[in-house]
Amino acid sequence: MADEAQIKAAVGPAEGLALLLAGNRRFASGEARHPDASPDWRRDLVAAQQPFAVLVGCVDSRVPPEIVLDQGLGDLLTVRTAGHALEGAARGSIKFGVVDLAVGLVVVMGHTGCGAIAAAIARGGAELQGGDDLDQLVDEISSRVGPDGLRPASGTVDVATAWVANVDAAVRELRGMPWLGDASVVGLLYDLETGLVEIIDDGGLGVAG
Ligand SMILES: [Zn+2]
Repeated sequence: MADEAQIKAAVGPAEGLALLLAGNRRFASGEARHPDASPDWRRDLVAAQQPFAVLVGCVDSRVPPEIVLDQGLGDLLTVRTAGHALEGAARGSIKFGVVDLAVGLVVVMGHTGCGAIAAAIARGGAELQGGDDLDQLVDEISSRVGPDGLRPASGTVDVATAWVANVDAAVRELRGMPWLGDASVVGLLYDLETGLVEIIDDGGLGVAG
């Protein structure tokens, strides 16, 4: 198992994304391996970690990244907030992965049926509210999806467009971080029904979904 750790420490962003997509296909088809979870492996990791990706996802109980992407201990530095909002501690945690651990792949994984986006849509594009922590979180999601997304001219909201817009906005924001360096930022959308991820933005890595 230690050999596998050394290999993963050396994987580049494109190979890392391929590992995630392969793991997701295993999960979705009921062939998950639950890798890198043995007692030996746990002990091998005590001295240090070298995850191959920073995974930015939602807190939703149906989308745990290590499970739906079939990864194990030491594979992913996982940052989860509702609707993968980035304000504050989340952005700092992502920076920790990119700068301190030298992770070269950052993956934003949104999902269908996201409650944070539903909350932003329910607000109907009203003025940002500030208020408590949860209000501020929904404010961030609202600003990503935008008033047009929340109040389209037709009077109906295309929630599927909002799911994608929320991923795109987070990807764009992270690409603008001055500390990003050479790290690649990729956007995925996980489908609750199929269990599969769709590539929203491959970050130029050229990995087929
Ligand atoms: Zn969600």
